[in-house]
Amino acid sequence: MIRNKNQKAHAIVAWLAVCAIFVMPVSVFSQTKIVYHSNRYSPQDDLKLGRQAAAEVEQQLPLLRDNEVTDYVERVGHRLAAAIPPEFQHPEFQYSFKVVNAKDINAFALPGGPMYVNRGMIEAARREGEMAGVMAHEISHVALRHGTAQATKGQKYGLLAGILGIGGQILGGPAGAAAQIAGQGVGVYFLKFSREYETEADILGSQIMARAGYDPRDLAAMFQTIERQGGGSSGGFMSSHPSPANRNARILQEAQYLRVQNPVGNTRDFERIQAKLRGYGTAPTMSEIARSGQRYPTEGGDRNYPANTPGGRVEYPSTRYRSYNELGFLTVSVPDNWRQMGENNSVWFVPEGGYGQVQGRAVFTHGVNFGVFRPQSPDMRQATQDFINSLAQGNNNLRESTGFQRAYISGRSGLSTTLSNVNEATGEREVVTLVTTQLQNGDLFYMIAVAPQSEARTFTTAFNNILRSVRLNA
Ligand SMILES: [Zn+2]
Repeated sequence: MIRNKNQKAHAIVAWLAVCAIFVMPVSVFSQTKIVYHSNRYSPQDDLKLGRQAAAEVEQQLPLLRDNEVTDYVERVGHRLAAAIPPEFQHPEFQYSFKVVNAKDINAFALPGGPMYVNRGMIEAARREGEMAGVMAHEISHVALRHGTAQATKGQKYGLLAGILGIGGQILGGPAGAAAQIAGQGVGVYFLKFSREYETEADILGSQIMARAGYDPRDLAAMFQTIERQGGGSSGGFMSSHPSPANRNARILQEAQYLRVQNPVGNTRDFERIQAKLRGYGTAPTMSEIARSGQRYPTEGGDRNYPANTPGGRVEYPSTRYRSYNELGFLTVSVPDNWRQMGENNSVWFVPEGGYGQVQGRAVFTHGVNFGVFRPQSPDMRQATQDFINSLAQGNNNLRESTGFQRAYISGRSGLSTTLSNVNEATGEREVVTLVTTQLQNGDLFYMIAVAPQSEARTFTTAFNNILRSVRLNA
């Protein structure tokens, strides 16, 4: 049986190889010449569509707020964009490069130039050339104007027309676009192309790489890296970039006609950035982001948070306390007019009116959150800093306002620090107090207490009582 299967596979591979030669005879002798598809939109339309989609994307996806990482990805991106062959340069396009704090090995670009590279992609690549390969592929979709070319073919015209404000809104305007982007984990909207377009992006991507001083074979290598690491799963590159049958062979074939002196393979910068990203702990997956996009990394999902609007009146904390057993190892007492929410690795205790949902995201204005963070470092101070950095990923306005102080929690030595934030639901300044200690397995246990700055004093006593009541058994 096994032998039969293998024979069959060999036969298919051989057949594909034959096809490749007959379908694209020109490339046997020289670089493949690519031409534009017909397009009823102007390059200015690409720019406008891309800008609007980018605004939606940036509301839906957590961008990595790390200037060092972003600067590096921008450097590689602009180097590639500068290497686009003249016939595919559009002076009005504005290439920009941002990193999404998501685990899936993926990247996408919007018409006119905005590109988003997932953190998971940078972490998965084995060298700078592999990362650059995927970016060159994405830049090629933009330069070839694939988004609007595809729309020209008809099936998505209504949506684009709605966004551009031309014609009737057949499928809805920007709100419809946002829903599609959020609901389908990005990658599907402008972004899912035919295999023909994928092949073009591979070929032009190879040419751009060579012109920028990279080895185009690193693009093929990156596809293998993606496949090895399960990039075909939903949210991964292969789900939004269907693989042409002879993808790698086709890239390697093109590479034969692209001469690069001393190509850039790996760089110190790449290794430094990759190490830094790995130090951040695990990023959420695209589907986790689409489901919740929570404000704090509560890891356990938030399906039981009621959909009321935060920002209403919140009662004073009761002076009567109620005890809970949570997380399998935590006993804690909280005011008896607070309720418990969350599950798995994260639990909240909040007063009525101190929580709610904004655009499907759980938002808290008052309360305490307990959870576990798996650190990269065995050092508690470093682990706490890494945890704060991970919080800052989802909270642009989060700032450390004090240094670390010694704290005790359940008789263990720990650290405490105060941060300030602007609540995304109410726009009010809030005080966030973080207390951490280590569990026996090295995980970081944390308590986060949050209240608006104007009410911080009212809640201080309750927060201190809760902290003192904590008993850990792990
Ligand atoms: Zn693609």
